Amino acid sequence: MEKKTLVEFENRCVQEEPPGCRAACPLHLDGRALCEAAAKGRFDEGRKIIQKTLPLPGILSRICDGPCREACLRQEKGGAVELGALERFCADEGPFRRPRILVPKTGRTAAVLGGGISSLTAALDGAGKGYSVTVFRGETGGRELLSLSPVLTEEMVEEELEWMENLGVLFLPWDASVTPEGLAGRFDAVYAGLDDPLCRSFPELMEREDPVSLETAVPGVFAGGNTPSFIFRAAAGRRGMKSAERFLQGASLTSSREKEGPYATRLFTNIEGIEPAPPVPVPPKGYTRDEAVREAGRCLLCECMECVKSCVFLQKYGGYPKKYAREIYNNLSVIQGTRLANGMINSCTLCGRCERICPGGFSMRDLCLTARQEMVSQQKMPPSAHDFALEDMAFGNSPEASLLRHEPGHSRSAFLFFPGCRLAGISPRTTESVYGHLRKVLGGEVGFWLRCCGAPARWAGCRKELEKAGKEFLDQWRSMGSPVVIAACTSCLEVFRKELPEIRAVSLWSVLQEKGVPETAPIRSVPAALHDPCTAAELPEVRAAVRDLVSRTKVPAEELPLTGELTSCCGFGGLQECANPALAAETAKERCGESPSDFLVYCAMCRDLFARTGKRTMHLLDLFFPPSDGDPGDLPPVSWSDQRENRAALVRDLRKYLWKEEEKMEADRDALSLVMDKGTEKLLESRRILAGTVRRVIRNGEVSGRKIARPDGTFIAGLKPAAVTYWVVYRPREDGTFEVFSAWSHRMEVKGREEGAP
Ligand code: SF4
Ligand code: SF4
Ligand code: SF4
Repeated sequence: MEKKTLVEFENRCVQEEPPGCRAACPLHLDGRALCEAAAKGRFDEGRKIIQKTLPLPGILSRICDGPCREACLRQEKGGAVELGALERFCADEGPFRRPRILVPKTGRTAAVLGGGISSLTAALDGAGKGYSVTVFRGETGGRELLSLSPVLTEEMVEEELEWMENLGVLFLPWDASVTPEGLAGRFDAVYAGLDDPLCRSFPELMEREDPVSLETAVPGVFAGGNTPSFIFRAAAGRRGMKSAERFLQGASLTSSREKEGPYATRLFTNIEGIEPAPPVPVPPKGYTRDEAVREAGRCLLCECMECVKSCVFLQKYGGYPKKYAREIYNNLSVIQGTRLANGMINSCTLCGRCERICPGGFSMRDLCLTARQEMVSQQKMPPSAHDFALEDMAFGNSPEASLLRHEPGHSRSAFLFFPGCRLAGISPRTTESVYGHLRKVLGGEVGFWLRCCGAPARWAGCRKELEKAGKEFLDQWRSMGSPVVIAACTSCLEVFRKELPEIRAVSLWSVLQEKGVPETAPIRSVPAALHDPCTAAELPEVRAAVRDLVSRTKVPAEELPLTGELTSCCGFGGLQECANPALAAETAKERCGESPSDFLVYCAMCRDLFARTGKRTMHLLDLFFPPSDGDPGDLPPVSWSDQRENRAALVRDLRKYLWKEEEKMEADRDALSLVMDKGTEKLLESRRILAGTVRRVIRNGEVSGRKIARPDGTFIAGLKPAAVTYWVVYRPREDGTFEVFSAWSHRMEVKGREEGAP
């Protein structure tokens, strides 16, 4: 990924933008952090936050006029947070403990004219930059600060001035010989604080005050702070000393200074549903501890995190998209060493909801998909991430599990019913019924096409495989006369739309809406919550057709809180279930928890993943083509093994009974019968080792004799059909079946010749 692409992604996420209060503060005090600490009663932490930003913290924290109030988001919900009063309480509650940091001297000198807030800020900042600073002030010796506010005491002012002296700032009386021109000749940098009337007596300082650089008519002399606001006076001192530094470095006095003063933040914070609460009134003597804690508790701790709030995946990795973008960029840049973000990159469901929620349109889907494609093309993708899905795709396109036929008795197709691997694998009987119905309502020339649409390769970032499958796909489609494809699955539709736009594809749901559904008795009258698959989020016409069809079932349907284009994934999308099964289970569980009602879905995979969490879930097709045996909500999830077996069986059955073809499948495919208990079945399912694979391993062991005999009468046989080696512990039984006890797989190479693989 190029740096430019990273920056484009990063710019879309505003989570790291400051809250309104901080952006509006001329010195950018972190009001949010201050409130967070104060709400917990941690005022010492509050003082640290203040003194990190404010010069003269003992003075400014007590007299700041709070321009941040105008930008405080709480304003709309009862009134702005009284940040000024909170700062004052922090200052009154305990001392500022200022560590004495000795900044190495640079050898440069700075003169500061005036004894007001602006001048003293410039002097402090100059000392902080390593300059030897001399302040020329009037005879009052700093006492004029006392007149700024009745809350200031002599002690407070003394403490600040003493601190400055400790830092090495030299205070000299101002006499008539001190002029800006004269100082400019003697010192490297000069700043004049115009909040001091003495400075305002020099017309050359007043004539040309540039608001960005504070440059004056005297070269090398900067001046500012002629404002009633104390905090703006301090900000001018800071700005002026920065300009002086740039002047000495020969750098531009004006470039990239937009965010030095107040600016409008880009941070988005959702305040919907926040209860209004008025500010805790500020007594003349300032808050008590309890009042300060309560007022700080009104702060909304402004942040965005809108996408994170609604995405289990984004929550899982403890950050937010901008941070993830940097981690992914770094991950892709690693030449040698551990790529820590691989798991994250492969765990996104690619549902795209974040992009639709984000005020800046940040798309984790695009980011993760781009990263996956890059990892695959550079051979950095760990094979374990997606090989099960890719192997399943290869199976789906094998002669055993794929089928392309014109309708029996027809030699051309106007339509092709495309059920997709999941519907065919999970509900093969429903697939047959739907095909029968379509033939009836469309009046003939409805072909049948079972194969994988290519979604696994797309989600895995394997562009080469996807392009190869796409070419095959187009060739097959054209060979049928380029008919309209009726897709049951919205993921297939998404692939057609994005990768194969030439294919004329419509949704099964739109066809059923238009052509009608079979008359069936209403199955239930209890409400069900309607879940849209994530790939329907960008298909409003499909969602509308489904709602129309649901209304015909007489099942009262509820909308989930996040529905339609904001729907969430079931955990299968983007191959999350393949790369991170535990997270996929969490994703499904989270979604199921959004309503106590049974779920009604129109994607077979959603049905299965929700059913796996124990949620009663019905597929919409089951309401129109009900299973013969009982309530569709009671149907159990279908294991990966069974899904494959079902697809192959569907192909065999359709060929045999519908197209009346001879059975051409391998006769011995199922000859080997397995016996295993529920625990072993579960283990194999969780390790994604299919029954068919176990059969092949045992057959290999039995035929080749390459098996390890164990004292308990069991055997271990192994087989490496492609990249993965499988091992099975089994025992042949007297009745000719094989009892399976365990199985596992790995990618480690076991050197030696592989023989006798059937
Ligand atoms: S609510 Fe809190 S964080 Fe948000 S702008 Fe106001 S003070 Fe700052
Ligand atoms: S799972 Fe969906 S909402 Fe979450 S980051 Fe990925 S694309 Fe965005
Ligand atoms: S919604 Fe997410 S990606 Fe968008 S700005 Fe907020 S935190 Fe960042």
